[in-house]
Amino acid sequence: MNATSNAQPSGVLVFYSEFDDFATWRKALNAKLPRLEIRHASDLGDPAEVSYALAWKPPAGFFDRMSGLRLIINLGAGVDSLVGRSDLPAGIPITRITDPNMARMMAGYVLFATLRYARDIPYFEQAQKRGEWAYRHPRSPEDVRVAVLGLGELGAYAARELRRQGLTVLGWSRTPRQIEDIDCYAGMETLDTVLAQADIVVLMLPLTEQTRGLFDRERLLRLPRGAALINVARGALVDQAALTDLLQSGHLGGATLDVFEREPLSAEDPLWRMENVLITPHLASVAIPSSAATQIADNILRVDTGQAPLNVIDPGRGY
Ligand code: NDP
Repeated sequence: MNATSNAQPSGVLVFYSEFDDFATWRKALNAKLPRLEIRHASDLGDPAEVSYALAWKPPAGFFDRMSGLRLIINLGAGVDSLVGRSDLPAGIPITRITDPNMARMMAGYVLFATLRYARDIPYFEQAQKRGEWAYRHPRSPEDVRVAVLGLGELGAYAARELRRQGLTVLGWSRTPRQIEDIDCYAGMETLDTVLAQADIVVLMLPLTEQTRGLFDRERLLRLPRGAALINVARGALVDQAALTDLLQSGHLGGATLDVFEREPLSAEDPLWRMENVLITPHLASVAIPSSAATQIADNILRVDTGQAPLNVIDPGRGY
């Protein structure tokens, strides 16, 4: 089914995000669903009129009095900020955006950050600051081992792209996965084995009760000395103080961090001033209205015609 079929759901959709542009989303959604009335949360009117909510990190109490709500659409891939809440209306399905364009954008970031280490670019950046012609012979790609932790919509895509570069790629997930030419492991009991083999580790896991704080000091010490860590998932997966300490002591060679325990990262945080750390402000990938609007519209249409929506998250599992 797709949103271009004849059925045209009406009703009210409420939009909330501090990071995404309302006008752009409204235009993209109205192009698919012209009869849908799209209201910004700041100008909601009667909450009982709302059938659909498209929201990213809405404030506490956001869903109060939305007695006609039929679908909650998380405006992004990570649902950790939604599933832990106590104010969610019972029995309303929650979907998330799993857009191939979002996966491609994420893979672009992961490729950049991984190849930067695989090609020793931080070493040349430092040499350049000293005005030094510091030849270091490139490693063959297959001699660089990259562990991708989390093989979901984003992780599996990135892992394949890394493999296409000739790197040796290991993958890790909760349940067993099979990806061509990638050595896949599953389950908590295999994590240390995976970490011990990684020159570069890429965190692509959701934040859940099982994964919060998973990368504590002890786990990070399982990585070979000099390994690099790339976190594009959630800051709270990692003990940030232990990470900082191990980067300072040299156990970890470098880190590329897009996400942090607390965002924005405080101006006083030592990570800002560390030469072996690259920081970006949580934008490795974003939902792209023009492509994501199609799957949102399809889900609204499904709910409107009494079918189960796609890409529903499991609140019990946490992702
Ligand atoms: P998915 O839900 O599609 O996949 C999650 C993967 O993690 C699955 O492979 C899953 O295993 C695995 N996993 C979950 N729990 C565990 C566990 N306890 N042990 C081992 N593996 C586990 O997520 P996406 O790929 O769509 O996204 C991943 C995360 O990326 C999001 O949750 C979000 O936090 C983050 N993100 C960050 C962005 C940024 O800009 N920085 C943008 C978008 C997302 P299994 O395959 O067995 O289910």
